[in-house]
Amino acid sequence: MSQRMQQGQPMIIMGEDAQRVKDQDAQEYNIQAARAVSEAVQSTLGPKGMDKMLVDSMGDVTITNDGVTILQEMDIDNPTAEMIVEVAETQEDEAGDGTTTAVAIAGELLKNAEELLEQDIHPTAAIRGFNLASEEARSEIGEITQAVEPGETELLQKVAETSMTGKSSELDKELLAELVVKTVEAITVEANDGSYVVDLENLNIETQTGRAAAESELLNGAAIDKDPVHDDMPTAAAEANILLLNEPIEVEETDVDTQVNIESPDQLQQFLDQEEKQLKEKVEKIADAGADVVFCQKGIDDLAQHYLAKEDILAVRRAKKSDVGFLKNVLEASVVSDLDSVTESDLGYGSVRRDGEDELFYVEGLGSETHGVTLLLRGSTDHVVDELERGINDAIDVVSTTVSDGRVVAGGGAIEVEVARRLRDYADSVSGREQLAVEAFADALELVPRVLAENAGLDSIDTLVNLRKAHENGDANAGLNVYSSDVEDSFDAGVVEPAHSKEQAIASAAEAANLVLKIDDIIAADELSTSGDDEEGGPGGAGGMGGMGGMGGMGGAM
Ligand code: ADP
Ligand code: MG
Repeated sequence: MSQRMQQGQPMIIMGEDAQRVKDQDAQEYNIQAARAVSEAVQSTLGPKGMDKMLVDSMGDVTITNDGVTILQEMDIDNPTAEMIVEVAETQEDEAGDGTTTAVAIAGELLKNAEELLEQDIHPTAAIRGFNLASEEARSEIGEITQAVEPGETELLQKVAETSMTGKSSELDKELLAELVVKTVEAITVEANDGSYVVDLENLNIETQTGRAAAESELLNGAAIDKDPVHDDMPTAAAEANILLLNEPIEVEETDVDTQVNIESPDQLQQFLDQEEKQLKEKVEKIADAGADVVFCQKGIDDLAQHYLAKEDILAVRRAKKSDVGFLKNVLEASVVSDLDSVTESDLGYGSVRRDGEDELFYVEGLGSETHGVTLLLRGSTDHVVDELERGINDAIDVVSTTVSDGRVVAGGGAIEVEVARRLRDYADSVSGREQLAVEAFADALELVPRVLAENAGLDSIDTLVNLRKAHENGDANAGLNVYSSDVEDSFDAGVVEPAHSKEQAIASAAEAANLVLKIDDIIAADELSTSGDDEEGGPGGAGGMGGMGGMGGMGGAM
C-alpha cells in the first residue's frame, strides 16, 4: 500500500485499506456508480417496461417493475449509488409514483454532465446551470398544467389508470381506476379556503381472498372481519345503538397472590354464584345503556356471552384496535373503557348486517356526522390480493395528491418534451457556460420519451423527432401512446399524470445530480470497489458495475 508514504508524505491519517480519489477521477467514479443504478431501472419505465426478477440472499423471489422496490432489493452499498436510491425514496414519499422517472432523469443528467466536464466546463458551472434549469422547468410546468377538481371523475380516472399501467394490478384496470377515484372522492372535503383535502384517516382497506378482483367494492362505513360470539345472538341490527368497548366482559381477576380456599361444596357454589353475579351485572350495564350491539376489543366470558344472547345483544369479541378506532368515526361513538360509567350518550347509532359468505359484518353509521368508507379488495388468491392492495394503495396516493394539488399534465413524454423545448428557448437568455448546462438539462428530460419508445420496441429517434415536431407546431400535450405507437394528444390517449409528481421528479433528480457533481474528493475507509474479485478499485475499475458493491445481491436477476 501506501504510495503516499513512499513519496515521503509525513502524515498518514487514513487506515491501511483507505483509498483516496480526487478531482476528475472522483467525479467520474461517482457518475459511473450513479449511472449504473439509473440504467438498471430504465428498462422498466412505462407500460411496456419489463419486469425484474429479484432474488434476495435468502433465495426469495420478487417480480416487480416498481422503481423503489427494485432499488431497495438491490442492496446497494456504494454511497453515491445510495444517493440515487434516496431520490427514489423521496419521490415515493412525496408523490407515490414517478420513481423510475426521477432516477432515470438523475442518471441522464449525470451522463450529460460528464460530457460537459470533458469539455472542460467546471463542475460548479454545470451545477449552476442545472439549478437554473431545474427552477425554470418547474415554473414552466406550472404554466402547462391543466386544472382538475373532484367530480371530474373521467379525468381523475385517467390519472389512476396511468399510475396503474405496467403493474400487475392492470387486472381490471378500468374498473379499479373507477373504484380508486370513487374512494378518494368519498373522503375528500373542501377546506375553508376552497382547496380540497383528502382525509385518508377516513379510509379503511379490507382484503378478502376468494372472489374475483372485479368484485372489489367501496362500502359506506366499516367491514369487520369477525364472527358473532354466540350462536343464539342476532347477526344483524338495523337502527341499532352500538357500544364500542375496551374492557373485557370477564370476571375481574382477584389479586394475583390471593388464593381462594374452598373447603366445602357450599363455599364453591357461593364462589361461583359471585362470579356469575359479576358477569350478569356487567351485561346488565350494557343492556341498561341501551346497546343492541357490542364491539369489544377484549375478551368476553362464555357465561357473559350467554347472558348477552339472552338480552338479544349482538356481540363481537377481540375486535382489532384499528377497527374499533375506525368504528368510532363511522358511528360517532366513544370507546368505553369502564362499564361502570357507560351511558347512552357513549353509544353510536348505525346498522349492522352480516355477509355470511365473507364472514364480515358491515357497519354503517346513521348519524349526521358519520365519516369513513371501506374499500373491500377481493382477489382469487393471497398473492393476487397483495399485489392488488399495493397497486391500489399507490393509485390512491396518486389520485389523492392530484385532488389536493388540483393540477395534471400530459404523460407519455409530452410534458418532458414541452419543458425541454421551453428550456432550450430559455437557454438563449443564459450567459456563459451555464447555457450549455441548461441545454444538457433539456436533453436529459427527453430521456423519458426515448426510453418509453425503446421499451415499447419503437425507434426512439423517430419518436423523438415526431414529438419535437408536434410540440414545435404548438401541440403542447403531444405524447407517445405506446399502445397505438402513435404520437397523439396524451389527454385524449388517457395518459395523464399529476403535475406535482413531475415537478418533484425533476427537482429531486437535479438535486441528486448536483450532489454527486459537488464531490471532488473521495476518502474511503475501505477499498472503493467491493465487487469481490481482485480487480483494481478506484476510477480505473469503476466502469459500469465495478464500483457497485452489493450488486451481487441481485443474483442473476438482470
Ligand atoms: P414511474 O416509476 O416513473 O412511475 P412507470 O413505469 O410507472 O414509471 O412509467 C411512467 C411513465 O409511463 C410516465 O412517463 C407515463 O406518462 C408513461 N405512460 C403511462 N402510460 C402510457 C401510455 N399508454 N403510453 C405512453 N406512456 C405511458
Ligand atoms: Mg408509475
